[in-house]
Amino acid sequence: MDLEFSAAEDAFRAEARAWLAAHVPDTPLPSLETAEGFAAHRQWERTLFADRWSVVSWPEDYGGRGASILQWLIFEEEYYAAGAPGRVSQNGISLLAPTLFEHGTAEQRARILPPMASGEAIWAQAWSEPEAGSDLASLRSTAVRTDGGWRLSGQKTWSSRAAFADRAFGLFRSDPDAPKPHQGLTYLMFPLDAEGVTVRPIGRLDGKPAFAELFLDGVFVPDEDVIGEPGQGWRVAMSTAGNERGLTLRSPGRFTAAAVRLTALWRGQADPSDTALRDRVADAVIGARAYQLFTYAGASRLAAGSRIGAESSLNKVFWSELDIALHETALDLLGPYGELADGAQEAPSHGSWAEGHTFSLAGPLYAGTNEIQRDIIAERLLGLPKGRR
Ligand SMILES: Cc1cc2nc3c(=O)[nH]c(=O)nc-3n(C[C@H](O)[C@H](O)[C@H](O)COP(=O)(O)OP(=O)(O)OC[C@H]3O[C@@H](n4cnc5c(N)ncnc54)[C@H](O)[C@@H]3O)c2cc1C
Repeated sequence: MDLEFSAAEDAFRAEARAWLAAHVPDTPLPSLETAEGFAAHRQWERTLFADRWSVVSWPEDYGGRGASILQWLIFEEEYYAAGAPGRVSQNGISLLAPTLFEHGTAEQRARILPPMASGEAIWAQAWSEPEAGSDLASLRSTAVRTDGGWRLSGQKTWSSRAAFADRAFGLFRSDPDAPKPHQGLTYLMFPLDAEGVTVRPIGRLDGKPAFAELFLDGVFVPDEDVIGEPGQGWRVAMSTAGNERGLTLRSPGRFTAAAVRLTALWRGQADPSDTALRDRVADAVIGARAYQLFTYAGASRLAAGSRIGAESSLNKVFWSELDIALHETALDLLGPYGELADGAQEAPSHGSWAEGHTFSLAGPLYAGTNEIQRDIIAERLLGLPKGRR
């Protein structure tokens, strides 16, 4: 790729930067993992949407700007550099929306995408089950045919933001007699306040209540809420998984901005004779820059028509380990103050390093564990023999 940006890309960056400078709240919003923070973040989504910054890469018809993937990366860099709030609508805009663009009907896109873009409908991902995480195809929740639709039953777990979200999308076993576990699955959407749905928060390490498990007892879903063909849910889901692990979940802007903040911390707090800590700061900065360049290369290939595929597993392992290294280094720099969470007056950066660290620990698990990603890298990218399962 050409590492210089075009005049149009520079202009896009300048427009995004100016908008963010004028609109990002001076004081960070409360954590989106709480009811109060969730509502504040939903309002922020409305603000973004009003000026068409909530879904920059979507077509204009759905509230986007039709931005290219490079423009999207530029926007994300500016977004994180401006210290803008985390995106409460991320499951919808980065997982369900690409799935609808690829497999949904025109009616579904027209009905579902605008309220998703405006923050009016916030989505949760309902894939994992107590016995089906890494081995997702062993899921047991069912979709049983009924007049005009389906009845969903079963249990979903580890559903981010589900305690306060509006709707969810997930996979259900619609043909228990299918010859293989990947077959006979159907991809469906359902409201979280529907009759038969129970949402129970799961306590997180930091005690915040948005993470939840879902119990479904004969929940009715009309045919119009099936994505793709009934029984073909696995194929539909795999396009979502590629997006989750790859670019759209964790753009480099998040890490380059954190690396800048970490460097500032080093300048402000560090003992200059502590060269071991200084080297860790340098490593984190190099890691963020490496991820940025690797992503630009991947984005250029995508723009030229290739698909991400198994390469997204490389991103996943890299960003999740980088996130932990960045946060651990910051906490070591902050010493005892690094332990203070967002409620404490003296908490550095409003506790964002402490909260970010707790969350970074989950990075090697969610979006598919790193053990599984390493298997994918070994088998599909390096052509090594299959390991023993
Ligand atoms: C913070 C967080 C947010 C999440 N959000 C969501 C969400 O919004 N929606 C959703 O549906 N799910 C979500 N998840 C669930 C997540 O996708 C699963 O936790 C993950 O897929 C692992 O599944 P599991 O927890 O069942 O672990 P298991 O699959 O039981 O794995 C346990 C351990 O065994 C290893 N292992 C399993 N099989 C193999 C193998 N074949 N080879 C080598 N090692 C193996 C795993 O790597 C792991 O270390 C979230 C999880 C976390 C932690």
